[in-house]
Amino acid sequence: MPRYAYVNGRYLPHADAAVHIEDRGFQFADGVYEVIAIVDGTFTDEEGHITRLGRSLAELRIPWPVKPGTLRILMRELAAKNGVRNGLLYVQVTRGVAPRDFRFPADPAPTLVMTCRRTKWQPRAALEKGVAVVTLPDIRWLRRDIKSVALLAQVLGKQAASERGAFEGWMVDPDGTVTEGTSSNAWIVTGDGVLVTRPASNLILNGITRQTLLRLAAAMQMRVEERTFTVEEAYRAREAFVSSASAFVIPVVRIDGRPVGEGVPGPLGRRLREAYLADAGVADPVLGGGR
Ligand code: PMP
Repeated sequence: MPRYAYVNGRYLPHADAAVHIEDRGFQFADGVYEVIAIVDGTFTDEEGHITRLGRSLAELRIPWPVKPGTLRILMRELAAKNGVRNGLLYVQVTRGVAPRDFRFPADPAPTLVMTCRRTKWQPRAALEKGVAVVTLPDIRWLRRDIKSVALLAQVLGKQAASERGAFEGWMVDPDGTVTEGTSSNAWIVTGDGVLVTRPASNLILNGITRQTLLRLAAAMQMRVEERTFTVEEAYRAREAFVSSASAFVIPVVRIDGRPVGEGVPGPLGRRLREAYLADAGVADPVLGGGR
């Protein structure tokens, strides 16, 4: 089946899809994006992702390229054209093409690009055995709440983590607190069973998966604290995991080479993954299981 990308109102063969070299996304990373998982044809947490896209756009004063309702229709059209019922959909909006100038163009025509592909999800072993993370300095700007396409710090962070044999890098601010993963939010469970994740602020991306997990954890009467935690505290955690739209929940069993708890995936992360997918009304695309 041929692959198509959506570019400003047209479905183009993926290999030929392009934007102009003066697009501000290319020139200045002046744009935002969203990633949405499609499981069995269901767009998980669609509402949250569209809402956050609107927020990111508003923070940067980029107009919506199409109305949110239209975007939802286009997303479905693109998935159908690509025959994707299990995969990832990327939405990118930039301030559009304009002669190079740091100042905003007076009359911006935002660029809307969407791609959709099947995905292998994460390997089953990542869920059964857990993954390793390493800590890295957080070298990003101070508006991490905006889901900007300016991802160079995360590119360097993920590459460094990968070269050190880790699945993810946990970024650490100068005060020693963990901010988040390069493409995920970071969670720990303390020795006495409290689920801890950093509160939403300008210093992290408020993950849509994170927000849904917090709602589900409260509904399951888990003890939850939204607060900062240090690398030292993470080393002493009983359990740890990461969350993101493309990974849902993945257990973390080693931090900087030290085992987390017994060094095996913990029960809270597993329950939250199950609850997340059940809430979305889908079976686990990696582990299977009923709806
Ligand atoms: N933090 C960062 C830096 C991310 O890139 C992502 C993934 N896009 C997340 C957190 C998780 O957010 P979400 O659950 O919305 O995918």
